[in-house]
Amino acid sequence: RAKLGGRNAVCFFDPSMQADVHARADVEAGLWVALEQRQFVLHYQPQVAADGTVLGLEALVRWHHPVRGLVPPDEFIALAEECGLILPLGRWVLEAACAQLAAWADHPQRSRLVISVNVSARQFLHEDFVAGVVAALEHAGADPRRLDLELTESSLVTDIDKVSAKMEALKARGVGFSLDDFGTGYSSLAYLKRLPLDQLKIDRSFVRDILVDPNDAAIARMIIVLAENLGLRVIAEGVETAEQREFLAGNGCSAYQGYLFSAPRPIAALEDFLDARATQALC
Ligand code: C2E
Ligand code: MG
Ligand code: MG
Ligand code: MG
Repeated sequence: RAKLGGRNAVCFFDPSMQADVHARADVEAGLWVALEQRQFVLHYQPQVAADGTVLGLEALVRWHHPVRGLVPPDEFIALAEECGLILPLGRWVLEAACAQLAAWADHPQRSRLVISVNVSARQFLHEDFVAGVVAALEHAGADPRRLDLELTESSLVTDIDKVSAKMEALKARGVGFSLDDFGTGYSSLAYLKRLPLDQLKIDRSFVRDILVDPNDAAIARMIIVLAENLGLRVIAEGVETAEQREFLAGNGCSAYQGYLFSAPRPIAALEDFLDARATQALC
């Protein structure tokens, strides 16, 4: 049985966080148990084209805690990164997403969907990352062209040749790459021309006030034009209203993700959403 992180991984905390140490240690212990007891689940959020076609789905992890209920990733991903649990957890997410792709492989509509998986910096920078992705794809029998990996700028600000080589190794198999939360990190624009990216994701913090804040509108427009000029696709996150979608569409952005279309859903509810869409398209 593959154990990537190891139970004895040590976490280091800032001394000012001393008061939190016990609470954090509890959560950390709970996370390892959660992994063993399969308490993590993936929800999927549709990514939609201008004509309403579902292009793909973003896989978003949740912790189904026996007492606390459904815990969102913002409450455990950072801790999982600090204590190393992100390695086995990230591997589980990849395996689950690949299994979903394989389960849809013979479906007339769902077989063309792409699943996007979030990859944290620590996971991407680990030396076994490429082999782990390949193993997850092969173990599930999933088509690598249906897998998209969402990196953040924090994954890119290290050794650019190494980063680029890792991406190329997976791209050669057909895996795609998106840059998540674009514009919120610290990477330089020079990275964009040197890395084999396929898509930029406009962070939802720029979309939220896009109609009322001229600075957000300017940044969103800049990202759309930048993507176009670099030959990259672009998708806007956090689209909640038809007005936001219209504004984005008017400025050349033709792929959207957000509550306007659907919140992330468990797989059964997601399949209902897809079926309803398919029926609509026929009418
Ligand atoms: P993200 O990758 O930027 O994912 C988008 C987040 O925006 C999701 O939050 C999604 O539920 C939320 N969202 C989508 N549409 C809307 C909208 O219209 N309005 C608003 N206000 N929010 C919207 P979620 O699922 O809580 O995930 C939060 C973050 O946790 C993700 O941000 C990602 O950075 C991280 N994460 C989630 N799953 C994984 C995972 O499997 N691995 C890693 N490493 N990180 C993950
Ligand atoms: Mg993401
Ligand atoms: Mg994002
Ligand atoms: Mg985010």
